[in-house]
Amino acid sequence: MPSGIPDFRSPGTGLWENVNPMEVAHIDVFRRSPDKFWRFYGDRFCSLQDKVPNGAHAALSELESAGMLRGVITQNVDRLHRRAGSRNVIEVHGSIARSVCMECGGYVALDDVLEQLESGVGTPECRACVYPLKPDVVLFGEMLPEQAMADAYALAAEADLMVCVGSSLEVFPVASLPEVTLDAGGTLAIVTQGSTPYDDRADVKLEGDVVAELQSVVAALG
Ligand SMILES: [Zn+2]
Repeated sequence: MPSGIPDFRSPGTGLWENVNPMEVAHIDVFRRSPDKFWRFYGDRFCSLQDKVPNGAHAALSELESAGMLRGVITQNVDRLHRRAGSRNVIEVHGSIARSVCMECGGYVALDDVLEQLESGVGTPECRACVYPLKPDVVLFGEMLPEQAMADAYALAAEADLMVCVGSSLEVFPVASLPEVTLDAGGTLAIVTQGSTPYDDRADVKLEGDVVAELQSVVAALG
């Protein structure tokens, strides 16, 4: 990935080399032992501070500003699309931008969580309840957020063109979104290295580096 952040949910990426994701990033693990969960997840939170949006994030933000892109649907939880300036971002796996108190349901901003972690607190807590916080991301064993999925399907259905960027389009239910666009009469462009199940049905398939490809698109449209 251009920003150097392994996909939170993808086994086989560096993040998971020495750990079974089902044993740390599963909702049951969190419920049983928030401390065990945060021992793994805390490092990930802290490392995200160094990550910045790349040229692909910037290109999508520019296209939205120019009125050529309605919104971004992402499985990434790193909030880099928002940091790049994208406004309509549908995060179907949630985002680390906030954590939720499992006791009162209140939300706590990332800055607060980082402050707690950096001060040596192993498991960040809701300051009101003194109860463990859970990152507002979809863990293994959790349902996808209903509203985000509804928004994603609505956006896919009304799209004249869906541009699929850097995804193998194999993880359901998000992998079903291109089908929604096609069924509604829209077209697909795929910007991904390697094959996807939709290659034969896309009007455009770009195989180059996603940053270079998207920057070329922005330049051509500008
Ligand atoms: Zn609380």
